[in-house]
Amino acid sequence: MKKLPFLFLCIFYLGIGFASPKPYVILVSFDGFRWDYFNRNITPNLEKVREDGVSALSLRPAFPSKTFPNHLSIITGMYPSHHGIIANNFYDPFKKQLYRMQDTNTARNERWYLGEAFWETAERQGITTASYFWPGSELTGTSRRPTYREFFDYSRPEETRLQGVIDWLKLPIEKRPHFITLYFQNTDTEGHEYGPNSPEVNEAIKKLDSITGLLFKKLDEIGLKDSVNVIFVSDHGMTNISQQKEINVEKIIGPGKAMLGDFGPTMMVFPKKENFQEVYDLLKQTENHYKVYLRNEVPIYFHYRENPFISPIVLIADLGWSLITNKELSWKGKGNHGYDNNQLDMQGIFLAIGPNFKTNYHTGTLWNIDIYPLLCEIFNIVPRSNIDGKLERIEFLLKGH
Ligand code: AMP
Ligand code: ZN
Ligand code: ZN
Repeated sequence: MKKLPFLFLCIFYLGIGFASPKPYVILVSFDGFRWDYFNRNITPNLEKVREDGVSALSLRPAFPSKTFPNHLSIITGMYPSHHGIIANNFYDPFKKQLYRMQDTNTARNERWYLGEAFWETAERQGITTASYFWPGSELTGTSRRPTYREFFDYSRPEETRLQGVIDWLKLPIEKRPHFITLYFQNTDTEGHEYGPNSPEVNEAIKKLDSITGLLFKKLDEIGLKDSVNVIFVSDHGMTNISQQKEINVEKIIGPGKAMLGDFGPTMMVFPKKENFQEVYDLLKQTENHYKVYLRNEVPIYFHYRENPFISPIVLIADLGWSLITNKELSWKGKGNHGYDNNQLDMQGIFLAIGPNFKTNYHTGTLWNIDIYPLLCEIFNIVPRSNIDGKLERIEFLLKGH
């Protein structure tokens, strides 16, 4: 008789022991933080994460190596042609509608978003999520959004963003989000304006490093430092561009023969039916420092064919070259991205630290489409089956794998 309560207690404690607590993940994005910015010796806080946690040599973006396509690839595990956000700005030639990332009417309209974001997968399976900025997190309507979110505000101070995340983690346990995104544009902004090797980019790197230090300090203050997994990623890198390396496509094909979408590393060309062959021939004749592809000729490794909104002709500039129209002649940026995603300069970062990750583990290049299945594995939830990402390319970063 006396042994019964003891037995009961053993079973009870064993039960608790086996039911592992729900993990926490903060996914931090440093826009345009190139893989080799760590070599500048100005990132002591990030260096500690790299040393102690998991670090990859680089994170390979999806093509095109632009902000919206890649934040969506990270959060859905799909290539842009599958999740639908094939560029920061693109055109639906059937409905004659433009998607523009800066236009909240389109950026918040769910008709453009074909993939399932991790917060949607997670919420459906009982995990509360939050987003302190992330492309695709602002959809109008209820079922495809994180429980908590902030709408993008370019000028909101870094510390305010960070404090917002900490405040969510201080919510009562039943309301507290377990997955949170956090986003900073500093390195991207300075990289475009002054180029990746500028002192201004170094200042942006230092700022993000100090925010990293502050994040761990604040997690410590609220007693969650050892419980939270923090993953640092970037969406792409950055390369030098110059006005000596510009190709004016409008000048090549002449006025009124085609609609030209986007500019810079890639350009979408929608020729008028009657001018199709002429436009294609003109572009092919001058194919120097850029490539001209019919949509179904875009190299397979770009995974950039299977979307009806990709133009019939796609132009891709060589690294550092810019495709422009007359309108952009006065554009004076010194850095850009969006090029071939296999180029070293387009690679981003991946670091992670926390209870679910191995320690002192350093690996080669990872693919950003594999982060979605990694998140599903951490939370032990079922991923969508139609994704491009593969758990087996990334799960070795986790403890017990
Ligand atoms: P890009 O360098 O053109 O690929 O885009 C980078 C820019 O995207 C940043 O400087 C931000 O201003 C902008 N951006 C980032 N996140 C968002 C968002 N959630 N909503 C609107 N704009 C954003
Ligand atoms: Zn970006
Ligand atoms: Zn950018």
